[in-house]
Amino acid sequence: MAVGWDAAAVVAQWPGLPPLAGDTSADACVVGLGASGLAAVEALCGRGLSVVGVDAGRVAAGAAGRNGGFLLGGPEPPLHDAVAAWGPTAVELYRETLAEIDTLEATLPPGVLRRTGSLRLAGLPGPAVDDVEEAAREREAVDCAAHAAALREHGIAVETYDGDLGCGIFLPDDAAVNPAVRALSIAARLEHRAALHEHTPVLRVEAGTVTTTRGVVRAPVIIVAVDGRLDQLLPQLAGRVRTARLQMLATAPTAPRLDCPVYGRWGYDYAQQGADGRLYVGGGRDLFADAEWTHATDPTPQVQEWIERVAARMAGGPVAVQDRWAASVGFTDDARALCVRVDDGVVAIGGYSGTGNLVGPVAARAAVAYATDGTVPPPYFES
Ligand SMILES: Cc1cc2nc3c(=O)[nH]c(=O)nc-3n(C[C@H](O)[C@H](O)[C@H](O)COP(=O)(O)OP(=O)(O)OC[C@H]3O[C@@H](n4cnc5c(N)ncnc54)[C@H](O)[C@@H]3O)c2cc1C
Repeated sequence: MAVGWDAAAVVAQWPGLPPLAGDTSADACVVGLGASGLAAVEALCGRGLSVVGVDAGRVAAGAAGRNGGFLLGGPEPPLHDAVAAWGPTAVELYRETLAEIDTLEATLPPGVLRRTGSLRLAGLPGPAVDDVEEAAREREAVDCAAHAAALREHGIAVETYDGDLGCGIFLPDDAAVNPAVRALSIAARLEHRAALHEHTPVLRVEAGTVTTTRGVVRAPVIIVAVDGRLDQLLPQLAGRVRTARLQMLATAPTAPRLDCPVYGRWGYDYAQQGADGRLYVGGGRDLFADAEWTHATDPTPQVQEWIERVAARMAGGPVAVQDRWAASVGFTDDARALCVRVDDGVVAIGGYSGTGNLVGPVAARAAVAYATDGTVPPPYFES
């Protein structure tokens, strides 16, 4: 399975991190080295603790390195829906995620994060194929207006968009990354501050002990950051988080067309044009929902066929597909992410409902505070 993002030099030339070599101990252990786990490692190091971090594969070889690379303010539901469901705390989370973009911009190597803004379209670019699509687009335009009104009410920047790609709203504070480059850049920064180990699958997590295939890590504080694998590693969370597959593809370089990450059809379909000119396109999960509630991570013909159609509409013409892939994410019933204590000193995070690039690090810091000094997580997390 070729992952388009991995062609970037930082990823292709990643030297790797050594697997765990036997039993060890530390003040803290982090399981899962995606962007969330890495943020937990950084927060724990920042508290002066010794940290061991382990991942079953390469850093960010899960969703953290295989996603759309959208850095969108806020949680998974648009702000008006999140406020309706969770109350004003949804606005607090929105502000935390915008602050996370600022932090990433200040700490990643130059050029990794592109401060592009993002575009939410009503529907997909191009003429509607039939009356059903046209009606759906009109309904979504109404929702875009409600979304914009909520953002304005809370002083968050938003503009009306009516341009080549259709109609919708532009959110100037949002940003874009190559997600694999983002995570590996952070891992490279942390590898001299913490003992980070790739290719070290964790078999079991109990209070004070992380059992891997390569040895046991003893640590009084344990943060589990495996999102789409939470229900497998911690079966006690099985009713609270459910795993889904999300799929993407990357095209050959195409003419410049997308100035920023673009998402439409209620956010189910999305595309980013990378700095390399390729389109990175995903979507279609809702159209094949039954099949996509799975732990499998292989792309499927039916979803990929839909995403190719999305890619062509985003490109404004035919595209040549070069890579196809999929990865796992965790969903919760009300889209509030989990930051839960599962045992003495053990806190699990995840369930970002497909939007964890920024919420994940926010959850990671809340988990570190919860596990180390008992600070109860904010109400925008389920704790
Ligand atoms: C196709 C796709 C597109 C997406 N697009 C976006 C987007 O544009 N914007 C956005 O915000 N979000 C997006 N998401 C969601 C986002 O990728 C995730 O919410 C986020 O990456 C979660 O990061 P994480 O570090 O918590 O978990 P993950 O990235 O899933 O990392 C978990 C890590 O844990 C490791 N692990 C799992 N089990 C074990 C074990 N037993 N032992 C040791 N290690 C283990 C895995 O190897 C993995 O590296 C997308 C997801 C997908 C799949």
